[in-house]
Amino acid sequence: MLSGCQPARDPYAPTILTPVLGNTEILGVSAQNRPIRMTTIGSGPDVVLIMATIHGNEDAGTPLVQQLMQTLRHRPDLSQTHTIMIIPVTNPDGYALQTRGNARGIDLNRNFPASNRIDSDVFGQAGLTEPESRILHDMILAHQPARIVTIHQPLYCLDYDGPAESIALAMSYYCPLPVKKLGSRPGSLGSFAGVEQNIPIITMELAKEDSQMTDTQLWTTYGPALLAAITYPQSPF
Ligand SMILES: [Zn+2]
Repeated sequence: MLSGCQPARDPYAPTILTPVLGNTEILGVSAQNRPIRMTTIGSGPDVVLIMATIHGNEDAGTPLVQQLMQTLRHRPDLSQTHTIMIIPVTNPDGYALQTRGNARGIDLNRNFPASNRIDSDVFGQAGLTEPESRILHDMILAHQPARIVTIHQPLYCLDYDGPAESIALAMSYYCPLPVKKLGSRPGSLGSFAGVEQNIPIITMELAKEDSQMTDTQLWTTYGPALLAAITYPQSPF
């Protein structure tokens, strides 16, 4: 047998792509014992966290990130360069009850340990009094994402905290939302991750009426901006 003699490669052989199914884990449970799930797609060095519905009644982001997960199955190129962590429902109690806060009436997006936090009955009497905010806090410190996108309604803009202005501008190129700096809210995830941890974080505020959109309309309108956040500083297409 001749060493080094390989059969000619058949140019018409089918290419089998590794399916990008993602790995879903339960990060922990809410005050009312509902699971908080995170799906991780890809294993590349650039870690991006995309999360929806930390305010339970601002939930248009949930079907939007579910569309993102479907789309990423057809983008195996991205899974080699990025690790994309997706939390479709960050506040499952509020989502079920259609309330802004969790089941204990606490606004999770004011319950983070940040120097601007205000202790109150609605924001919590200290940072991280709630299981949902603790789970997210621990996840962010453990995985140290390079960027975070958190999806809200109804302010219709791309707000940001930390060194994220250029990412917000890149996203605005691919969706109708204008970049608008709203200012860091007390004890918010933006204050904790962006200002205290210096992790670029985009607060993507959809319109109120976007809740009436079909999943396809949501994806067509906002999906490319999510892809731009993942591939930043490269273009998504
Ligand atoms: Zn909100």
